[in-house]
Amino acid sequence: MAEIETLFAGADIDRASGLRRDAAALAAAWQDPATRFLPVWEAQCLIRDGAAGRLSAAELGACLPPPGQGVFLGLEAGAARFAVQLESREAPAEFGHFGGLRDLISLVSARDAALLAYARAMVNWHRQYRYCGACGAPVSADEGGFVLRCTAASCGHRSFPRMDPAIIVLVHHDRHCLLGRQASWPAQRFSTIAGFVEPGEALEDAVRREVAEETNIQLAHCRYLGSQPWPFPASLMIGFHAAAATADITLNDAELAEARWFSRAELAGDGIVLPPRASIAWRLIEAWFDAVPGPGLASLHRDGAFLRPAGATPEQR
Ligand SMILES: [Zn+2]
Repeated sequence: MAEIETLFAGADIDRASGLRRDAAALAAAWQDPATRFLPVWEAQCLIRDGAAGRLSAAELGACLPPPGQGVFLGLEAGAARFAVQLESREAPAEFGHFGGLRDLISLVSARDAALLAYARAMVNWHRQYRYCGACGAPVSADEGGFVLRCTAASCGHRSFPRMDPAIIVLVHHDRHCLLGRQASWPAQRFSTIAGFVEPGEALEDAVRREVAEETNIQLAHCRYLGSQPWPFPASLMIGFHAAAATADITLNDAELAEARWFSRAELAGDGIVLPPRASIAWRLIEAWFDAVPGPGLASLHRDGAFLRPAGATPEQR
């Protein structure tokens, strides 16, 4: 199992994937009064009474889309859960508070944050993949919403939920760790090295390449610690610790404005701002810092703020 726990993972729901191909069971579940729907509006999720909004068909009323347009998320305590996209022009405030995932995670349990991220990811995928990538015909949902099938009889291409794997790595050497700062970040904000995995690469290849591209550091070996769905909009962050074989930093590409080795004493001081605790970047730094006796990193730092891309789309919020 993973050595670190991360937010947006471990939604406590039985995905009941065997039901996805049982159209009759899904149709019955849609009508069942015990079923609840998780609405997503413009990539925003619903919070109600300090929890993920789970609405009945009666509560949704005319806002409930036709059967077949929802995504079957699974079962909670035996009752079905569907994610549904609301099409209204304004946020339907009568249901509760709609917001971006980053704004909502402090308002609900970790379990519900993971459920909301799961629901939103599935709805986003449906929003963005409306046409077949092979022939351009419209697609229609199948298998509880987990397959988008081309409607052209001559094609029939099937698409599956999209995720973008990315590595994220805390590099260490001689009791120091390597952190970088992007040009758009505040002056004291530092984080781990990260980047998307490219076709033809194993995860370890991507770790080695990203670290070399950004800092010119060569690695001796790396070790997997855990992963985190990062639904802004659809990344899966795969986290490592890596031992460096070299120590001289050269910024090889334009990705980082600065990269430095930090001792634990420097990390403990208030001259550095670290990523938010909800991120796997924090978990990787904390796991390295806390590996020696002494006060834990969480006792020394306030939670950092989320940074968002300039002009972020609703899916990136
Ligand atoms: Zn097609």
